[in-house]
Amino acid sequence: MGFMDRFSLKGKKIIVTGGAQGIGKVVAQAMADDGADIGIFDLKLEAARQVADEISATYGVQAGAYRCDVTSEADVAAAMDAFVGDFGTLDGVFNNAGICMHKDALDVTGADWNKIVDVNLNGVFYVAREAAKRFIQEGKKGAIVNTASMSGTIVNIPQKQCSYNATKAGVVHMTKSLAVEWAQYGIRVNSISPGYIWTEMTASTDPAMREAWMNMIPFGRMGTPDELAGGVIYLMSDAATYTSGADLIMDGCFTVV
Ligand code: NDP
Repeated sequence: MGFMDRFSLKGKKIIVTGGAQGIGKVVAQAMADDGADIGIFDLKLEAARQVADEISATYGVQAGAYRCDVTSEADVAAAMDAFVGDFGTLDGVFNNAGICMHKDALDVTGADWNKIVDVNLNGVFYVAREAAKRFIQEGKKGAIVNTASMSGTIVNIPQKQCSYNATKAGVVHMTKSLAVEWAQYGIRVNSISPGYIWTEMTASTDPAMREAWMNMIPFGRMGTPDELAGGVIYLMSDAATYTSGADLIMDGCFTVV
């Protein structure tokens, strides 16, 4: 076995939450290209099924779709059980489902706040906890990669997104906390922090705002989801066996300046 084989995900059974579109979909495809068998977890079952079908047809791996609202502990547990029933085991999770809200903090209602926290923070925790339980049960050194954001490190302008930023900072520190707590089991927990990435999420923003972002990004452009895939694959793979609690910022230098 050569050194580069450590980057291979061949035969690993990996769940991707929020995998029906955007970053989750593209990273799922890349991991499948690297040999992983993939479970797409999303609110939208039909779209998830389409992505899973495309993945199995294109990459010749096993792929399945599961409806799962990550804010529901029962949904997460049931979908994960269904995945393990279909795939035999679980090796890794790309814990990626998330939502954003642009709203002045003075106008953010309790319901707005709770919704963002529920998906971006509670959901990420439920998925990580349920995965870790299954890894421990099987004595498996599983890997979890959470999607945080550069918004967990800096405050974006001009948009007002206090609730989003707070949850993403929470994801970064939750990642470190879980990494330390579960180190004794050999479970690794890392996060990625993307900068501005072209997806369905950012496509719905005001073009004038995107222009303002472009002028602030040292790379002079937004990134694409495939530019995140290598980082996720690294953290998920056996090339990263001494890496846990890390946050990999991939942002075209946005947070560097
Ligand atoms: P998208 O909105 O394109 O995709 C997110 C997917 O997650 C959608 O399919 C969405 O379904 C699903 N989802 C939302 N809520 C839930 C839920 N409760 N349970 C299960 N699935 C859910 O977003 P991106 O691909 O752009 O973002 C993916 C992640 O990356 C998010 O965590 C986001 O915060 C983060 N991120 C994105 C950046 C960007 O610039 N795009 C930058 C930094 C971080 P539905 O469409 O039905 O809501």
